[in-house]
Amino acid sequence: MLKIENYIGGELTAPISEKYLDNFNPAVGEVYSLIPDSDERDVEFAVEAAGKAFPIWSKMSAETRHDYLMRIVRLIERDLDLLAEAESVDNGKPKSLAKAVDIPRAVSNFKFYATAAMHFSSEAHETVGQAINYTLRQPLGVVGCISPWNLPLYLFTWKIAPALAAGCCVVAKPSEITPMTAYLLSKLCIEAGLPEGVLNIVHGLGAKAGSAIVAHKNVKAISFTGGTKTGQDIARIAAPMFKKLSLELGGKNPNIIFADCNYEEMLKTTVLSSFSNQGQICLCGSRIFVERPLYERFKTDFVERVSQLKIGDPLESETNVGAVVSKSHLEKVLSYVDLAREENGKILLGGKIAKLEGRCKHGYFIEPTIIENLAFDCRTNQEEIFGAVVSIQPFDTETEVLRYANSTEYGLSATVWTENLSRAHRVAEKLESGIIWINCWLLRDLRTPFGGMKQSGVGREGGFEALKFFTEEKNVCIKIN
Ligand code: NDP
Repeated sequence: MLKIENYIGGELTAPISEKYLDNFNPAVGEVYSLIPDSDERDVEFAVEAAGKAFPIWSKMSAETRHDYLMRIVRLIERDLDLLAEAESVDNGKPKSLAKAVDIPRAVSNFKFYATAAMHFSSEAHETVGQAINYTLRQPLGVVGCISPWNLPLYLFTWKIAPALAAGCCVVAKPSEITPMTAYLLSKLCIEAGLPEGVLNIVHGLGAKAGSAIVAHKNVKAISFTGGTKTGQDIARIAAPMFKKLSLELGGKNPNIIFADCNYEEMLKTTVLSSFSNQGQICLCGSRIFVERPLYERFKTDFVERVSQLKIGDPLESETNVGAVVSKSHLEKVLSYVDLAREENGKILLGGKIAKLEGRCKHGYFIEPTIIENLAFDCRTNQEEIFGAVVSIQPFDTETEVLRYANSTEYGLSATVWTENLSRAHRVAEKLESGIIWINCWLLRDLRTPFGGMKQSGVGREGGFEALKFFTEEKNVCIKIN
């Protein structure tokens, strides 16, 4: 069986413990590879390797770093199909989705930051008649990047690309549940000739390998994407050490549909924003609020459209809904359907395990689920489910829907559907979310600030913000006379 290896100091290495964890293919419900059960000793080696690489990498010109990163880009592009298939097998997502979204986005992440570093500049402040101040932005050193399982290579590269482009050396840990494409990336880095120690990938459990990265005294910053509870655990360790922290956490995003919207566009997009990647995208809109005059029409059409989605083998091209990432996640999602029933929810569609035939008969599949009749403040509507479960609810006024939308402790993203421009601005201004989409969803421009407010996170990724995060600012004040 394939054994995934760590990537430390430019080489593929076994974990020092010589222990491995099972890696499942969720579509068939079987172990198909083994992953290093790394611990603090592997992390120690990785931090050491990164520390050795830092003086040279940080002093290279942005253009030379750009050239290295672009070599990786070309190799990812060459292996697009292979990487998409690996992502699909590891995660359960449709291969077509990985090929259209996940892997191209990994390419874009590297391209974007390889070039952004060459356009990065700093400020100068003139204290008239007295002095000129300029801001030096110097790469932090060794940094830690920890990413989740839902968009494995997409989010992994979203962190490591700006860190490397800014001149930092990285110790990264992908989710233990979906390690495969990070492993394949490490092989591509070797092929691209990335200098040893610049990027180190340590596989293993969050509580062991992940927390060792967070707690290491020589790791200057942690860029983390994952659950809110894990974010709290990380902050508890990192904050007293005064590490820089970027935390991209959970969400419970509202999708607000006004009666004057472009109906067809809204319906098509709402199917995607609810159920893409089996609802396992932090930006999925899981609470759908519909203005009352449109409610019954929307309900009928939405249930009809969603019932047409094909649940199937993720490797088949016509599959729309693949497998849930793991058995335990499947159980968690189903437990929320039970909770919704207890909270008087009416299941309009789905709510059950989907049974497949053939090679996927033991896989982890759930029917896309639509629930109505839930109070806006019940647990089902307040807690992150992170699966193919949405609730729908009518509203009468803007004030009322804003109260519903802003009622959770999360504040990641929101979608608003209306043709009324003034209302769009007004509602966007009042929504407590870091990202607002008007008449669209998941339309991304990598220059924009990305992140959440409230318990959805601290800090923003994207654009020059991410490059700034991985640098230390130093003000140099020069007296003129
Ligand atoms: P987790 O928080 O469980 O894990 C995220 C990563 O952190 C994994 O690599 C995990 O390793 C690691 N980890 C776990 N515990 C620790 C620890 N104590 N110290 C250091 N690292 C640790 O999240 P999931 O992987 O379950 O991802 C789903 C969550 O991610 C959802 O809440 C979702 O909303 C959020 N998310 C947020 C996004 C955003 O941009 N705001 C984007 C995508 C997802 P291991 O896998 O081994 O446990």
